Amino acid sequence: MTEFGFIDHIRERFGSLPDNGFEGIGDDCAVLPLGGGESLLFTADLLTEGVHFLRRTTSARELGAKSLAVNLSDIAAMGGRPVATLLSIALPADAAGAWAEEFMEGYRSLSEEFGVALIGGDTTASEGGVTVNVTAIGRAADSCIKRRSGARPGDVLLTAGVLGESGAGLRDLLEGRCDTPHAAVHRSPRPQVAEGLWLGTRDEVTAMMDLSDGLASDVRHIMERSEVGADIDLERIPAAPGVDLRTAACAGEDYKLLLCASEAGAEGLIEAFRTRFGTPLYPIGRITGSRELRWCDHGTPQPLDWQGFHHY
Ligand code: ADP
Ligand code: MG
Repeated sequence: MTEFGFIDHIRERFGSLPDNGFEGIGDDCAVLPLGGGESLLFTADLLTEGVHFLRRTTSARELGAKSLAVNLSDIAAMGGRPVATLLSIALPADAAGAWAEEFMEGYRSLSEEFGVALIGGDTTASEGGVTVNVTAIGRAADSCIKRRSGARPGDVLLTAGVLGESGAGLRDLLEGRCDTPHAAVHRSPRPQVAEGLWLGTRDEVTAMMDLSDGLASDVRHIMERSEVGADIDLERIPAAPGVDLRTAACAGEDYKLLLCASEAGAEGLIEAFRTRFGTPLYPIGRITGSRELRWCDHGTPQPLDWQGFHHY
């Protein structure tokens, strides 16, 4: 069973249980309306040694920050403000001392930067590698929450940054080149928290998520949840400098926001974003009514079967 097949299986088996007021599985975060126009957001991400990171290529400090960053990115993806986390960590004997302290320093520095409290978790020994699970909690005004399900045919599809640096960095790391700029991006992703909060306040934004598994994979989540299709213009995909187009479209862990904006509002949104952040939003295509994903070269669909990211 694939990862997403398993998640579908879980949803089916648990769908008949009470939801207790939660909007559950299927988006970047689960949503719990608090009343008074506010909601809490919940998300969890797991990092496993040998699958998501290698201890010989990622320092403990970097891993501490990254395990928080990937969760903050999911809160940002809903238009929320991260407020607290729970951290659970399984440590083999050779990581239980200085390595664990360094890990916590990385986790602490990013927590401090984003004003996030550490409110609990669990610590245990591991007979295998290091495993880290972070649960992050955010808050959002109900009116600012952006879901994967809000895209409509005609909307413009945009990314809030260039793509492929992390994927190129992973390749560098696996080939033993640990000190390239791309490798540094792969080890230390920056969650777009300020950008997500701001985009949450904009009515032009109809749907949003963060790019963790690669555009080719993640855009399909918006398509499924919104019951739409997408035409992506290959010539407009913002590949980062030194990164090939396929890596930009398919590699994972960019943690840039992917969003949809109404056709009428997109131009104004792009302008306002540039004024606010000094960086562009990149329009890369259109939402369609077809339920298909098409990669187009100057308007002509190409026979590409591009897939998203596989963790190493
Ligand atoms: P993300 O990449 O933003 O972390 P995914 O697209 O991987 O999210 O996951 C899709 C949805 O499935 C999310 O809502 C996530 O919370 C949910 N999910 C993933 N694994 C499990 C699990 N083991 N049990 C319950 N829900 C899960
Ligand atoms: Mg996500």
